[in-house]
Amino acid sequence: MGQERLIGGVDYPRTYQEFQQWFPNDAACVDYLGQLRWPDGFVCPKCGCDRSWRTAKRQWVCAQCAQRTSAMAGTIFHRSHTPISTWFAAAWFVTSQKNGVSAAGLQQALGFGSYETAWAWLHKLRRAMVRPERELLSGVVELDGIFLGGRSAGKPGGASDKVAVMVAVERLETGRLGRVRFGVAERPHSGELVDFARATIAPGSTIHTDGAYTLRRLGKLGYTHSYVTTNNFLTQASNPDLDEVLPGVHLVSSLLKRWLAGTLQYAVSHELLAYYLDEYAFRFNRRNSRAPGMLFYRLLQQAVTTDPHPLAELYSSR
Ligand SMILES: [Zn+2]
Repeated sequence: MGQERLIGGVDYPRTYQEFQQWFPNDAACVDYLGQLRWPDGFVCPKCGCDRSWRTAKRQWVCAQCAQRTSAMAGTIFHRSHTPISTWFAAAWFVTSQKNGVSAAGLQQALGFGSYETAWAWLHKLRRAMVRPERELLSGVVELDGIFLGGRSAGKPGGASDKVAVMVAVERLETGRLGRVRFGVAERPHSGELVDFARATIAPGSTIHTDGAYTLRRLGKLGYTHSYVTTNNFLTQASNPDLDEVLPGVHLVSSLLKRWLAGTLQYAVSHELLAYYLDEYAFRFNRRNSRAPGMLFYRLLQQAVTTDPHPLAELYSSR
């Protein structure tokens, strides 16, 4: 989905001034969501009829079965008590900041009374960011596990706060990096990385990894597996130089760590890390689209096709 060519100033606002002109009130926001949700015109979700009329509250009423439908129904905006224009302001704020925002930043920008509200909003928006990440990577892909965090001082038994994160990133022929996928590893060093590869990388791709024995199965799963056994270097250097073997993963890893430290000050709980990874992948995979309005468009487009996620579910889903 969503590969159509978009035009700034026609499909999405290019600047904050245009944003304000386009969305002076809730009705304008609802109409925009309606266009994103039904690009070929409204279709009744109940009976499939394409004839409808609009109410004063900008709902659609099916001409055949009289079903009333809101553009927000069944989306992350569903049953929100906040005006949709405030959601739009949040979406613009989040997508127009190059490196994203913290909950405190959003709270301040929108004048929310509580930090918790801003926090919940950010997470709802992050849920909308994961949607397009279902397409499989292809071509030449680097695959490895990295560790995040690691402040383990004072933990009983020397337990570590480190979280293992799986990374797959495309290496393009130009030498640049393509798209990235992340996954939180539950049991590092198991065959989990192989499962992750199967879920994120298209068969026929070439996968570069280190020499871990469990990964050799990749060659039997429809991939061309290329690996380097770093153990060979151990006699010469204390640290086998994986940077040279998997430069893409290494670069993504350092960018991700910098982003987590800068934007979120490492206030990332283990349970919620997956959502932050979603946001980072969303930004990374669109880092070459210069127009912030394009990110805004994509976020809202995905928001209207994303199920509502009540706060309780955010806490319990990982
Ligand atoms: Zn109908």
